[in-house]
Amino acid sequence: MIIDCHGHYTTAPKALQAFRARQLEAFKAKVAAPHNDELVISDDDIRQTLEDNQVRLQQERGTDVTLFSPGAGKMAHHEGDVKVSHQWAEVSNDLIYRATRIFPKSFVGVCQLPQSPGVPPANCIAELERCVTQLGFVGCNLNPDPSGGYWTDPPLTDRQWYPLYEKLVDLDVPAMVHVASSCNPCFHGTGAHYLAADTTAFMQLLLSDLFKDFPTLKFIIPHGGGAVPYHWGRYRGLAQDLKRPPLPELLLDNVFFDTCVYHDPGVQLLTKVIPVKNVLFASEMIGAVKGIDPETGHRFDDTKRYIDNVPWLTDEDRHKIYYENVLNVYPRLGAALARMNS
Ligand SMILES: [Zn+2]
Repeated sequence: MIIDCHGHYTTAPKALQAFRARQLEAFKAKVAAPHNDELVISDDDIRQTLEDNQVRLQQERGTDVTLFSPGAGKMAHHEGDVKVSHQWAEVSNDLIYRATRIFPKSFVGVCQLPQSPGVPPANCIAELERCVTQLGFVGCNLNPDPSGGYWTDPPLTDRQWYPLYEKLVDLDVPAMVHVASSCNPCFHGTGAHYLAADTTAFMQLLLSDLFKDFPTLKFIIPHGGGAVPYHWGRYRGLAQDLKRPPLPELLLDNVFFDTCVYHDPGVQLLTKVIPVKNVLFASEMIGAVKGIDPETGHRFDDTKRYIDNVPWLTDEDRHKIYYENVLNVYPRLGAALARMNS
């Protein structure tokens, strides 16, 4: 079985964005938001938008299950206020839940959190708990910068995050550190903000003793860890200069990297530098880069090919990247897969 730990419902029916537009208009006009029930999407709409897209690509590429979350850019935590974020997370997560019910063998849910700039993340606990305990989700996307590119909130290692981390540990679910869209024109969303955020989050973790306080807390840094694997020597050197423990001891029981790197040399570097146990298969389809690579004739986000092409990976290594590591990092996934097959 091949598990893709990073996919978004980027093809969600248009009614979802129309609801979002109405919600934000109501916020701006200071009138009551539309009720959740006013978002009408049929099972057929869900079926069709997935069958023609993510499910078809899973089949074509030979992957089985995707850990599936709402569109990441569209989380846009900087829009509206905390109440707006809460409703938006709720309807987005409910839609993911329906997708997991309609395609129970293809998707397992991962939730969006109702973060909002300047609001302590403890406000996300109730929605996290609902998604995990009632909807069967196995993880969440945690935005290290809810301001959308201005970094106005404290780093991920600040104590303001601790109540949410306590709940993550308590529920035994990891967080993928994943920003939303950028509203800062200096940072292109998927080309700059995403990768800079991945790198920034890693450096925050390097500087802190967060994992002494939470030895079982697990973070996935997506997009191959941003610039981290490429600059691993710099980070090892910085850790040494700053009298921090060596990186494996400091971070590698808690921090994992996905394989959303869209060419052979990138995935080769990732798997050479980062221990296999810390690498999780992912493609982030359909989303960040949709086109076909003219050099290979295959889609950029068809990442399984790159892993299959790495000459030094053994079958056992690949089994870890495709399956075992994902199950280790998402402890609730085993039960979700068992339910899927029962
Ligand atoms: Zn993503």
